[in-house]
Amino acid sequence: MNNLLNKIAQNLPLDRGDLKKILLLETKSDLIALFKAAYAVKLSNVGNKVYFRGIIELSNICDKNCFYCGIRKENQNVNRFMMSKEEILHAAQFAHKANYGSILLQSGERQDETFVAMVEDLIKSIKAESNNKLGITLSLGEQSFETYKRWHDAGAHRYLLRIETSNSELYKTLHPNNDLHRFDVRLNALTLLREAGYQVGTGVMMGLPNQTIDDLVNDIIFFKEHDIDMIGMGPYIVHDETPMGKSVTDFDPVKQVQIGLKMIAATRLYLRDINIAATTALQALDPIGREKGLRAGANIIMPNISDTKYRKNYQLYQNKPCLDENSSMCQDCLQDRIDTIDEVIGYNEWGDSPHFFKRNQENKED
Ligand code: SAH
Ligand code: SF4
Repeated sequence: MNNLLNKIAQNLPLDRGDLKKILLLETKSDLIALFKAAYAVKLSNVGNKVYFRGIIELSNICDKNCFYCGIRKENQNVNRFMMSKEEILHAAQFAHKANYGSILLQSGERQDETFVAMVEDLIKSIKAESNNKLGITLSLGEQSFETYKRWHDAGAHRYLLRIETSNSELYKTLHPNNDLHRFDVRLNALTLLREAGYQVGTGVMMGLPNQTIDDLVNDIIFFKEHDIDMIGMGPYIVHDETPMGKSVTDFDPVKQVQIGLKMIAATRLYLRDINIAATTALQALDPIGREKGLRAGANIIMPNISDTKYRKNYQLYQNKPCLDENSSMCQDCLQDRIDTIDEVIGYNEWGDSPHFFKRNQENKED
């Protein structure tokens, strides 16, 4: 560990072996040293500002059947909903008035024209109502290039599409074997998103059944090789009404949080100037999971600003936090939580990753 810490302190580049060592650390003192080192790299590369993306979970209607997800199409126990345009605009207004800077629109995956046109119209309306002040990130699954382009032209500028795992064989075990769930299509989507003009985010789930430490090391290397601007990754959490949730018998929340935090720290140390989210899944497993994520190197938080009445029907996994809280309660609680760890909130800023600007600068100079 000392050699590794020296390497980190001297800003020497880490290799595959170092990443593996990091992900295998277990003792409390090693983990404290790791998170401290990752936090120092965060401070020197992206500072101590936390940026908010107010998340609006606009619909749980999904055409896909990912084995891990609670709102998969075949789960008959879910009451399906689609927020109305007024409700979505109201939530966006809340974010704007609370000076959040950005929102994230997320939903189940639909590729039909009604949905595509509805989102396009929404993006335009949110931009117009906020005088172009609110930044818009999308997390609406796989779409055609034309759709990505339409939504980008309408005003969205970041897109988050998790690759789930960079191991194509493992990916197959997480999804049905049909054309709606192809690894190659998901992978290619990252290229299409960049071509359509977005800042591109991706991520994985950690602690999946049959996932190895080498898989996770490869995930981090994948992020670098694909020149990713932002990462949203979190521990896998069981949901009893899913094929995967039913088959997992040894779910250990403590282990899941630990691997989640180690991945944040390792990714911060390896990629340095990108945005990394402390995802809600961490908080679902540990009441102060998101704060721990910030201390391990993350710099983005996604407060839920969806209407409370819909939240219980948008459970990708069990024990999702804040189901009964409204958006302003979430806001107060987050402000307190961030104060306690000496970070500041980047109000009224889009909070794009420094990595994105550096790449654009380099491209201009080429
Ligand atoms: N439908 C879109 C966006 C919503 S799902 C899409 O799939 O891209 C957003 C993310 O939730 C997924 O990428 C997946 O990584 C995560 N997720 C789904 N089920 C989960 C579970 N049981 N535990 C942890 N994360 C989960
Ligand atoms: Fe649908 Fe996304 Fe859940 Fe897959 S992970 S079932 S695409 S909402």
